[in-house]
Amino acid sequence: MKNTIIADKILVAGPCSAESREQVLSTAREIANRLPTAIFRAGVWKPRTRPGSFEGVGEKALEWLLEVRQETGLKVMTEAANSKQAELCLKAGLDALWIGARTTVNPFQVQDVADALMGTSITVMVKNPIHPDVELWRGAIERVRAAVTGEVMAIHRGFHSFETTEFRNHPRWQIPFELKSFMPDLKIICDISHIAGTRPLLLSVAQEALDLGFDGWMIETHINPDSALTDKLQQVTPTRLFEILNHL
Ligand code: PEP
Ligand code: MN
Repeated sequence: MKNTIIADKILVAGPCSAESREQVLSTAREIANRLPTAIFRAGVWKPRTRPGSFEGVGEKALEWLLEVRQETGLKVMTEAANSKQAELCLKAGLDALWIGARTTVNPFQVQDVADALMGTSITVMVKNPIHPDVELWRGAIERVRAAVTGEVMAIHRGFHSFETTEFRNHPRWQIPFELKSFMPDLKIICDISHIAGTRPLLLSVAQEALDLGFDGWMIETHINPDSALTDKLQQVTPTRLFEILNHL
């Protein structure tokens, strides 16, 4: 990819979950060395299907994100799924947050987060709901847009499908375009990691998103993906992240 192309794109990179201070900082340092304009992501609270698996380290990871920003200059973001988490993100002074697919499905929950953000200038990225319902996605963005003065963007992370496909979440590319038809000024980035689900598919999904004119990518990046506590099959090292971007 030409530097001029990437300069116009939004790149969100960082681990699925914040696991330890060292894991967060070492991943961020490598990303910042090559991609100083990236936004650093790490899940502080993780929505898990069943209890008992790693649910994130919680509030203390917000400190690690602040250290990342302090040391590398990267902007930092995490997922907020309720008003308490949103308030903690605001109090910490994060640059941005995202609303996850399991939150977008529930208008009460989206409104709860939006109310907590009311009147603030934080940047918010809204992921599509798990199932292919463009109206829920649109409604969540409208709720957040009515609350914050900061930029509101969308993240396309693919949709649950009853068919078995090569994807973890089927891209159904027409749906983000339908969303865009309602909101032509909306920036939409593509979360290639949650669409692909496995490393070998990432490059082709990233390329497709570029060819279709998406405004950027979210790519889960971990200093040691094989040891990741969540989503290890789809996470890549910072080196692989640069290779993917260079191939585009
Ligand atoms: C994530 O980004 O790690 C995540 C949990 O995503 P989603 O809400 O898209 O499943
Ligand atoms: Mn993940």
